Amino acid sequence: MTPPVAAVPFVRVFARYLREQGLPVTHQRIAVADVVFGTDEHLSVDQIEGRVRDQGDRIGKATIYRTLDLLVRSRLVAEHDFGEGFKRYEHRLSRQPEHEHLICLGCDKVTEFHSRELKKIQDQAVAEFGFQPTRLSLEVYGLCAACHEAGVELPDYGLTCPIDSV
Ligand SMILES: [Zn+2]
Ligand SMILES: [Zn+2]
Repeated sequence: MTPPVAAVPFVRVFARYLREQGLPVTHQRIAVADVVFGTDEHLSVDQIEGRVRDQGDRIGKATIYRTLDLLVRSRLVAEHDFGEGFKRYEHRLSRQPEHEHLICLGCDKVTEFHSRELKKIQDQAVAEFGFQPTRLSLEVYGLCAACHEAGVELPDYGLTCPIDSV
């Protein structure tokens, strides 16, 4: 278990963002922000709902979704679609702001890694094409070490070699 992330300074920044946007700083919005900023995990809406409940609040999904929209718009939180049929949310300014993801299809574990080489490749590619990058995202899907060791197998999807079957 990683120690909890200090949420308070980021909750304050979010509250300021809300005021700047002329939006009310409600108890519900702050409770959702507190959960998201209090971890460096990648949380689904269901998980956020559960944790808000654990903290003694009952907040409907619609309010959670609307608050997450605001958090994403404030750029304090990143929204990810790892192809699981739901989105995940993470604090963008956590301990490791720039990172890529390894996503286990066996247990849904998300592992972060950082690579200087990847940044170099990006810099070369954008320079070559005169491209103005806004963000870099690399997602690697497969099995984590624990799932692999436990013998978890993933179903084969589609044709392995389409050329052969023509
Ligand atoms: Zn796994
Ligand atoms: Zn992440």
